[in-house]
Amino acid sequence: MAKTLFERIADKEIPAVLLHEDEQCIAFADIDPQAPVHFLVVPRKPIPSLDHLEAGDEELVGHLFTVAKQVAKAQGLRKGYRAVFNCGEDAFQTVPHLHLHILGGRKMGWPPG
Ligand code: 5GP
Repeated sequence: MAKTLFERIADKEIPAVLLHEDEQCIAFADIDPQAPVHFLVVPRKPIPSLDHLEAGDEELVGHLFTVAKQVAKAQGLRKGYRAVFNCGEDAFQTVPHLHLHILGGRKMGWPPG
């Protein structure tokens, strides 16, 4: 099976501004930021989307949130941030490898578009 784009970033085949890495996940700056701070937290396991989570993935997903919080703090997001999983076509998921968006550094609108 061909590697996903984010597996290739995790394997350093494609450059990215890496903000965190461990055995389970990586975090890196989004190439097309939608806020002053915009990074992605991505499991090394190539789960296609939130819809594809299986029993046993709970700890991994919890770890993604813990890393998101730590990186958000390291990026200076003191006044809050938004955490988003786009899942599937209607949510405009464009990369079929689970990723948590963290956006901050400006006031967010609600509801999201
Ligand atoms: P999605 O639309 O699937 O929720 O989000 C995919 C995100 O990946 C987008 O925000 C897009 O800008 C980002 N992205 C796509 N290709 C690359 C890349 O090659 N490098 C980085 N750093 N981000 C990427």
